[in-house]
Parts: sequence; C-alpha cells; structure tokens
Amino acid sequence: MAQPVIEEFATSTFKGLLNQCIHCGLCLQACPTYAVFGTEMDAPPGRIALMRAASEGRIGLADFQGSFTEHITLCLACRACETACPSGVKYGKLVETARVAIEHRRQPGTTERFARWLGFQQMMPHVGRMKLMARFLWVYETIGLQRVVRSTRLLPKPLRAMDAILPPITPSYRDYSRPAPAIGPKRGQVAFFIGCIQEAFLAEVNEATIRVLQRNGYEVHFPKGQTCCGAAQMHVGEMTQARELAKKNIDVFLAGEYEAVINNAGGCGATLKDEYFHLFEDDPIYLEKAKRLSAQIKDISEFLVTHLNVPPTGEVRAKVTYSDSCHLRHAQKIVKQPRDLLKGIPGIQLIELKAPDRCCGSAGVYNIVQSDTADAVLDMKMADIAGTGAEIVVTTNTGCHMQLIAGVRRAGLKAEVRHVVELLDRSYAAMGRRDA
Ligand code: SF4
Ligand code: SF4
Repeated sequence: MAQPVIEEFATSTFKGLLNQCIHCGLCLQACPTYAVFGTEMDAPPGRIALMRAASEGRIGLADFQGSFTEHITLCLACRACETACPSGVKYGKLVETARVAIEHRRQPGTTERFARWLGFQQMMPHVGRMKLMARFLWVYETIGLQRVVRSTRLLPKPLRAMDAILPPITPSYRDYSRPAPAIGPKRGQVAFFIGCIQEAFLAEVNEATIRVLQRNGYEVHFPKGQTCCGAAQMHVGEMTQARELAKKNIDVFLAGEYEAVINNAGGCGATLKDEYFHLFEDDPIYLEKAKRLSAQIKDISEFLVTHLNVPPTGEVRAKVTYSDSCHLRHAQKIVKQPRDLLKGIPGIQLIELKAPDRCCGSAGVYNIVQSDTADAVLDMKMADIAGTGAEIVVTTNTGCHMQLIAGVRRAGLKAEVRHVVELLDRSYAAMGRRDA
C-alpha cells in the first residue's frame, strides 16, 4: 500500500538521480560490501531499488527501521560504484540523502548522543583538545596499558574498535603561530589545512607535508581559526554543526592571498572541495564563497605533481604499494598524481595492488560502528597487500592510514604504512645527507 513519501526522497532532484540507474549491475564487482555479502541488496542496484521504493511511497516511515536502514547503513559510501558506473549515477549524493533521512528519524540512545556530543562538538572542532587526548593515549600506549587491555578484550565493542585503529602516537607538535619559511628561493605562498585527527594522531604526516612544501620553495601559512572540515558531522546528518565548521573554514582561508590551500587527507579534501556547496544551497553568499574556496583547495599530490620545483633525488630503496583513498580516487578523481610522485623517487619499486581502488573498510566511523564488516573488508585488502611483498604501504587519507596500520598488525605483516609526502620527505632528507 502506498504511504506518504518521506520528504527527502520526494524531490525531483533525488528522483532524477535515481532514474539515471538502469540496473545494469556493472558496478557489482566494484562494491566491497557485495564482495563480503554476495547479495544485491548490499550492492548499489539493491540499495538504489530501496531508495526508489522509498521515493514512490512503497517504503514509508514505518519500514525505516528495518531492511532499508540495515542495507543503507552497511554501505561504506566509498563511491567505487560511481567510478564503475557507465550511466554516471551520482551514488554518493543518493546515499548521503538516504543516510541523512535515516539519521533525522532515528532516536539515538543516551550513550550514542553523549558520544556524538563529545566527539563531533567538543573534540574534533578543537584541535588543542584532540592533541591533549592524544597525549593521554600516548601514555596509555607507552606504559603498556594498551597491551594489557588488548589481551583481556574487556573493552566494549565500539571502544575495542577505536583502540584497534589507534596508531603509535608521537605527541610532538609544531607551533603553528608563524608561517614556515621557504627553503631556498621563494616561489610562492600557500595555506595549509591542518585537520583534526591527522594533526593529533599522525602529526608526522603534517610535518612531512610542510617540509616538502618548504623544500619546493613555498612559504607555508597556517591561518588561525581554521577547524575540522565537518565531514564526519555531515555524514551523520549533523548539518547545523557541519555548516558552522564550514563557514569558519571558508572565512579563514578566503581572508588570505594564497596560491593554493593545501590538504593531505583525501576525505577532508573532498569535503572542502566538493561538499561545502551542498551545505549552502539556500545561502547564496556562502554558496559563492564555498565555490571560491573550492577552486583553491588542492590535495598535496595534486599540487606537487605540477609544482615539484626540486626533484627528489635521494634514494629510498623499498618495495612500495599504493592503496587509493576512496575520497581521493572516486570523489576527487586523483589517481595518477600520487603514483607519479612515488615513481619519481629513486630506489622505489612501486608494485600495484590487484584492487588498489577497493576500500580498506575505514570509511569515516564505519570501522567503529560496523566493525565486523569493516574487518572483513580490511582482510581482503591485507591479502592483496601481502601478495605484493611490499615493505611500505602508501595511502593518502587519515582514516585509511590508521586502518591500514591496524590491518598490518592484524595480518602479522612487517610493512610500515606511510603517506606519499613522507617518502618524498625521506628522499629530500637522503639528499641532504648525501650532499653534506
Ligand atoms: S558506495 Fe561503496 S559500499 Fe556503497 S554501494 Fe557503492 S561501492 Fe558499494
Ligand atoms: S549504479 Fe550504474 S553501474 Fe550500478 S546498476 Fe545502476 S546504472 Fe548500472
């Protein structure tokens, strides 16, 4: 029986996007959840069929808690299906709308409400608090408490999943109050997006990014007042918070004169570049500003491939494989640039994975809230990595970086996990030693 159509699914834009799917199934093999479950309902055609049923009133509010929610929330939103689709289905936009519709009607329990308030409002927008937490967690790691906790498996499942992805922390942080000067002749000035989790837990990636930019003649600015990009908030439907964060970032970065605004995390970059528009569809002033900022946002690989003024000639002798960040590859369409940078470093032997574009299971907070499926997706990735015999696994997104560190440990591999810029930085450091 037809039911009132849920408002998010009733728009002509949403229905138009749905109608682009011709149900050909060509995206099935690209979909990691199809690989895990082998069912069409856990693949794009099945999920799109559910959304179509909702848009036609065949699934109403009463059915929301059932299979609709289950199959949509099992989607990683990795957008591999978008790249595989010959009809140009904007699956990312469809699943985002469905997730927001689900979130707006869900009644999270007290623990979840507290966790969201703490994580999304009190921690991620405040990088100083994130660093403080990282310092506590560094103590937890270094005094051996983590080893004890892991061996007892006493933590509840979500905390166990969070602990599993905790990387080894080096709590030594840069003073961002002054720009980092260019090394050698100055060729320009760029702004750097610091991020939140990246800075607190993988500060060495930010350090390497800044050093590589300096080495190539860029003065690196760290505009004060910048904050978390808002991706996580957006993905769970916390749009008011996401808008506040987006406005801060837009105002802060547009206030300066920069050749580019550089970021080094595929997920944050995709949000800054492509997602802020959607937040301001009803606000022409910020919509125009979001477009101006988008034109300035550059992923570090995208920027360096055309601005590598100092070729990295120091040798880094290693077998390396590269696992694409979904948001860098499928959302930002940056595929060749990180590979070209790696190939340009003497001594690196780049071995491609069989499925480099397959998600690692990180997907925002997916590896915490859907940890069993995330582990199954991660195990497939690690089997692929093990097959290359790589000593270094390279990726270009914070979540993937942490997930792959966990995967290497889980699979008992000897490999280290690094960002592209960390290998460039190593090459420049080797040049310094060689020329000294
Ligand atoms: S976004 Fe990823 S997990 Fe979701 S349907 Fe597409 S390929 Fe599958
Ligand atoms: S999303 Fe694209 S590839 Fe997948 S079934 Fe629909 S039209 Fe085919």
